[in-house]
Amino acid sequence: MPLVSLRQVLDEAAKGGYGVGAFNVNNMEQIQAIMEAAQETNSPVIIQASRGARAYSQDRYLYHLMMAATELYPEIPTVLHLDHGNSPETCFSAIEMGFTSVMMDGSLMADGKTPSSFEYNVEATLKVVKAAHAKGVTVEGEIGCLGGIEDGHGAGLDGLSHLTDPKQAVEFVKATGLDALAIAIGTSHGAYKFSSKPTGETLKMGRLIEIHNGLPGTHLVMHGSSSVPKDLQDIINKYGGKLKPTWGVPVEEIQLGIKNGVRKINVDTDSRLAITGAIRKVFFEKPEEFDPRSYLKPAREAMKKVVALRMTQFGQAGHAGDYKAISLADMAKQYAAQPVAV
Ligand SMILES: [Zn+2]
Repeated sequence: MPLVSLRQVLDEAAKGGYGVGAFNVNNMEQIQAIMEAAQETNSPVIIQASRGARAYSQDRYLYHLMMAATELYPEIPTVLHLDHGNSPETCFSAIEMGFTSVMMDGSLMADGKTPSSFEYNVEATLKVVKAAHAKGVTVEGEIGCLGGIEDGHGAGLDGLSHLTDPKQAVEFVKATGLDALAIAIGTSHGAYKFSSKPTGETLKMGRLIEIHNGLPGTHLVMHGSSSVPKDLQDIINKYGGKLKPTWGVPVEEIQLGIKNGVRKINVDTDSRLAITGAIRKVFFEKPEEFDPRSYLKPAREAMKKVVALRMTQFGQAGHAGDYKAISLADMAKQYAAQPVAV
């Protein structure tokens, strides 16, 4: 099947009461790892690329690798999503390239660093919604600001200084008609999310539930939601790495989110840790090796393992065959016929 829209995958997830991991990629091995994990667990797939990933893969490599994935796995519904579009223009270029979903992150100005005004966010997001929906493409927006920095994108905040205001979230969804809403509840991008196991003081799940109660029909998105497992940190440090002690978002908190409207869960750091640990291990144990396949294969396998585990924990496993793809043209007709329900 061709690439499908994020909206369809999240609507199905809402019906089934599960969440879908959105895994970041930059190269072929990461795409292969995700598709192999999806086949093994029979899961729908969201693959996402940031601006940094698009630059790294020169867009065209990424596009054709994704086409290869849909050819090789025609039975798996697969979304190609732009992570953290910094301006309407970035979103438009992604839509032109064949992305079936875009994030317009108007919570920050186009520099990707400075927190913006509510008015700016509505204006930029609405502009993208109008253009994207006309083509059947899904739009994710963000209200409140995440902590940390992701591929150069982010204000470098501590995660708690710009939490999502539940009332503003309702206003934002009404004003923009977006499909999915990223919220700030204390999570951060990168490996260093929490300096100890998060508590209700640092990870505001109560705030998430409040937002969901105000917007029961809106698909919520958790960013910065790698769990940063200790075993993956330990492999890196055992073989010469120097990660400082750190904590991510516990899987049980994500599962609580899924019970409360979270349908898309962004995971990047866990894949990075798995890949780097596997490569370090080969370099340490077999310093005589110099065939890149000798370390890229175990790296791909390690990422596949953590992705398959997350797919199972989020509940998307077993759901790849539940539905037939709705074409983007038909999605566009649906948008034209009825505005997005709040
Ligand atoms: Zn993010």
